[in-house]
Amino acid sequence: MTPDAQVTLDNIRIFAADMIAPTAPLWSKGQAPEPDLFRKVADLGLFRLQVPQSEGGLGLGFAVKARACQALAAADFGFAMSVVNTHNVAARIATSGSPQARAAFMPALLWGEASACTALTEPDAGSDVAAMQTSARRVDDEWVLNGEKCWIVNARHAATAIVFAQTAGQGDIAGIAAFLVDLTAPGCRRNATGSDFAQASAGTGGFVLSDVVLPADNLILPAGQAFHSIMSDINGARTYVAAMCCGMLDAALHYAGAYGATRRTFGKTLQAHQGWRLPLARAETALAAALALTDAAIHAIDAGQDAQLQAAFAKVAATDAACTHLPALLHAMGAEGLRPQYPMARHLAAAQIAALVDGSTEMLLERIARLARPLTEIQN
Ligand SMILES: Cc1cc2nc3c(=O)[nH]c(=O)nc-3n(C[C@H](O)[C@H](O)[C@H](O)COP(=O)(O)OP(=O)(O)OC[C@H]3O[C@@H](n4cnc5c(N)ncnc54)[C@H](O)[C@@H]3O)c2cc1C
Repeated sequence: MTPDAQVTLDNIRIFAADMIAPTAPLWSKGQAPEPDLFRKVADLGLFRLQVPQSEGGLGLGFAVKARACQALAAADFGFAMSVVNTHNVAARIATSGSPQARAAFMPALLWGEASACTALTEPDAGSDVAAMQTSARRVDDEWVLNGEKCWIVNARHAATAIVFAQTAGQGDIAGIAAFLVDLTAPGCRRNATGSDFAQASAGTGGFVLSDVVLPADNLILPAGQAFHSIMSDINGARTYVAAMCCGMLDAALHYAGAYGATRRTFGKTLQAHQGWRLPLARAETALAAALALTDAAIHAIDAGQDAQLQAAFAKVAATDAACTHLPALLHAMGAEGLRPQYPMARHLAAAQIAALVDGSTEMLLERIARLARPLTEIQN
């Protein structure tokens, strides 16, 4: 990592600890982050990390993004998801958008004046992406979109969405294309995605598109390329979600450890009881393993290698570690662990979300089963 990248990352870590961790308890009560916070995020360069320098970005490698996600999620997973989703849309527009689209959409995203989302999931198409029903019809030199998307990070407030839609018949993977949609345009209607788990900071929601007319320029990934692009980008997403789970587990270990050092029972501190220390040691072990697999995936991505298997290993290991050990760490703090100033309960809910987004655990295990032993033949 270059010295500049290291400084950027250090500043992000300080920001997460000083600005996000103390505010995050409000978000689990439904309050959305203040818009000013996103401007501070922009000043830190978080929306520009992987955007090429020629497009106003910092042009940094994937490792910085993954570590930034880890630091933000240690304070609040939903906020980290919100920030990285806006960043990803800006980076995609920078590399695949037309000059008009870059001029129209990018400045507001890079400088925290607007948020953005990427929308694949629909009421009847989650893991089975190819089943999406949102349609894109070419009419002269325009596109007309119809359909519904749900469970989309930032959809509650995003100005811009990258919407994946079918240009051919349903189930035709090669027919899927991606479009830039201004969510304030006529025909776009947002709807709430109610959940007691999805933190307000992730801004998760949905929208309906009714005869939304787009200029031809708003086609950002044509049919034939879009599905391939999802599959390649998703290795990065799986890896940074793994890093986020490591960040949450590390934070929970920190709080549980600090509590155990002062809370006394039966005449000594909790940490002096061997039975109390063992679950923490198990969590440390799982965290070390998850971090090693996450590092391997980060390295593969930054080296330009095919990272499918490494990303799947990292995400399964890290989400399993978080889902298994966060309840034990909450328990280790007794009732105190439930207080909102600690992230334990928020992280616990977030770990469940992490195990679903960007490829659920079952989808990833299926991938591992197919890739880990290439000589094994699996019949469909
Ligand atoms: C908070 C949150 C934020 C999200 N953000 C986004 C976003 O920004 N953009 C976006 O496009 N989507 C987003 N999603 C959607 C997410 O990607 C989907 O939830 C995920 O793809 C799983 O789809 P599903 O929920 O429809 O579950 P389903 O596909 O219906 O699956 C239900 C369960 O069955 C399992 N399952 C499915 N098929 C199989 C199989 N063949 N074998 C074994 N098990 C199987 C799944 O693993 C899952 O446990 C978000 C979801 C959440 C909860």
